[in-house]
Amino acid sequence: MSLVFDGHNDVLTRLWLSNSPNPAQAFLQQRLAGEMDLQRCQMAGFAGGLFAIFVPPFEYVQQHVPHKLANPQADQFSQQDMQNICLKQLAILQEIVTDPNQQVKLCTSSAEIRQCIEQQKLAVVLHLEGAEAIAEDLELLDVLYQAGLRSIGPLWNRQSLFGHGLKAAFPHSPNTGAGLTDLGKQLVKRCAELRMVVDVSHMNERAFWDTAELLQQPLVATHSNAHTLCPQARNLTDHQLKAFQETQGMIGVNFDTAFLREDGQRNRETSLDVILDHIEYLMAHVGEAHVGFGSDFDGGFISQELEDVTGLPKIVQRMQQRRGYSENLIHQLCRENWLNTLERIWGK
Ligand SMILES: [Zn+2]
Repeated sequence: MSLVFDGHNDVLTRLWLSNSPNPAQAFLQQRLAGEMDLQRCQMAGFAGGLFAIFVPPFEYVQQHVPHKLANPQADQFSQQDMQNICLKQLAILQEIVTDPNQQVKLCTSSAEIRQCIEQQKLAVVLHLEGAEAIAEDLELLDVLYQAGLRSIGPLWNRQSLFGHGLKAAFPHSPNTGAGLTDLGKQLVKRCAELRMVVDVSHMNERAFWDTAELLQQPLVATHSNAHTLCPQARNLTDHQLKAFQETQGMIGVNFDTAFLREDGQRNRETSLDVILDHIEYLMAHVGEAHVGFGSDFDGGFISQELEDVTGLPKIVQRMQQRRGYSENLIHQLCRENWLNTLERIWGK
């Protein structure tokens, strides 16, 4: 079985949204309703990945878990709500990694991730999806860094202090308005000083180029696909792909069918072949060493055939049997490309 290191999942957000009295133990010990938990990760050869903490859409939180808001009658999050939501998800992760059985480890270097893989522990890299919880003074960024945060997507699909959000729209170009604000640029610069991954997956085109201009490090899209194959605003145009090639960047292919299919549909009847079509297109444009997985488990809409994290070996099998990828290429796509990219950004 090929062990996988993956660019993006939302299990921590799902655990926070669940009404489980002890979400950390639920992840460690039970089979959960969503697409991943420890047991299924182990079955699937899911060795680790970037785990997002994320503030879901306000309407969703208000409808499903209103008791988790300071003021459920409000019509938007307060700054305090957004901060609380992130810290609660971080607290769930901390409970998971401090469990006495030590089956999961928070990693801040590639060496630690490799060690986890050897010791058969699940390797977690902490990622912040959308920086709204970080207020104007950026102090919380440093606090989160100290808590182990090593990757950040400054923007999600909504307007924030840091820039204009990108709505998932189909068919649509990623050129959807203004880019990073001055504060957004400061945030990106601070992340670069801290040698963190800066994720462009949810950026519109202007913000993408603003970021590319500020960074002297590989460009990373943790969960995005090729716009030419699926003209979804969240996907990357050929022009953008060139910037990944030039910076020796990294793209994790998203398994959400709306980002894979040429008709942009959320459709469970989607063949796993489209995942390989995107991988091959991206390899042709960016290079074999710069593509991997960015599943979006627990945050996307995946095909029936994949079902959940345990479907990963089916993708690998298809790489071997139908597409004839070499063992070495499979190894690169499944994890080495991610580990090498993280090492180049973070240092040894
Ligand atoms: Zn996302």
